[in-house]
Amino acid sequence: MFRHMDTLISERSISIIVPFLNEEENLPLLYQRLIALFDQLPHQLELLFIDDGSTDHSLEWVKLTAQNNPALKYIQLSRNFGHQRAITAGMHHCTGDAAIIIDADLQDPPEVIADLIAKWQQGYHVVHAVRSERKGETPLKKALAHIFYRLMSQITEVKMTVDAGDFRLIDRKALNALNSLPEQHRYMRGLAAWIGFRQTTVEYIREARHAGVTKYPLVKSIALALNAITSFSGTPLRLIFYLGNLLCILSLIIAIYLFIVWTLIQQNPPPHAGTTYLTLAIFFVSGLQMLCMGILSQYIRRVFDEIKDRPLYLIHETNLKDPS
Ligand code: UDP
Ligand code: MG
Repeated sequence: MFRHMDTLISERSISIIVPFLNEEENLPLLYQRLIALFDQLPHQLELLFIDDGSTDHSLEWVKLTAQNNPALKYIQLSRNFGHQRAITAGMHHCTGDAAIIIDADLQDPPEVIADLIAKWQQGYHVVHAVRSERKGETPLKKALAHIFYRLMSQITEVKMTVDAGDFRLIDRKALNALNSLPEQHRYMRGLAAWIGFRQTTVEYIREARHAGVTKYPLVKSIALALNAITSFSGTPLRLIFYLGNLLCILSLIIAIYLFIVWTLIQQNPPPHAGTTYLTLAIFFVSGLQMLCMGILSQYIRRVFDEIKDRPLYLIHETNLKDPS
């Protein structure tokens, strides 16, 4: 019985998806550590490296290495499509019974993969790696990330795992479900939570980058956060509704109050008071309208993007047999 289970487990193959953008200093070490790890694991390994428009020698290194290792596959996208779409390309083309997404810069230690696989073997379909500590990031990015993950878990309809990035294991069943989702704005952390199935977490310490610089400076991280909120939450829309209500009620109360004080009690309104308040009110209301329109435009842009129905990415070159 146990022998039978052993064969079953070892027959299950794993795809490691690595999206990269100019990571020539990191890829060789990542590759070594992954190979060393899988030497000790029973699973068949497929490595799928996704070149997201690199301009350094990363891809040359991958191609050269692939000549000696048939398990190493690559996809070169036709330009930089962004981290989330590079991951999507990997998820569409991997063949394993489970896929693991890992960054190329060694911030996610490859050794944690063994823990992810252990949970998978217990029957979980999605295993999120949760950062218990983040090294080598600016205090501002850390603080904003901390607030963002907690805010997201409050305002989204599906519960997202707090402090989980894109480092996770996804079982074939969950992978097929994710691959069937058509949206253009791919916030993988949200989509992975949305599909459901059996999900769990594994804690790890996120290391500092091994080499090179982050491709997610603060501005891009904020863009990702905004994308996440508008993709997964209707709360900003509801806020507009509440704000509008609040404004109406407040202005009504103030108008009644002023009428009582100036007209009924003092029976003599000051000459400039009206103009002052009116000017302030105009500023306030127009500011508020702009804010609300800004939020609305985010959603409208999203509808616009989805309607265009463009492919999520284009492939320039690959060593996959059937890249369709
Ligand atoms: N990356 C990518 N396309 C991009 C930006 C980043 O494929 O447009 C890759 C990058 O090479 C790395 C991973 O995504 O493997 C995470 O990026 P990074 O380490 O720069 O982000 P951070 O960890 O600083 O948030
Ligand atoms: Mg990184």
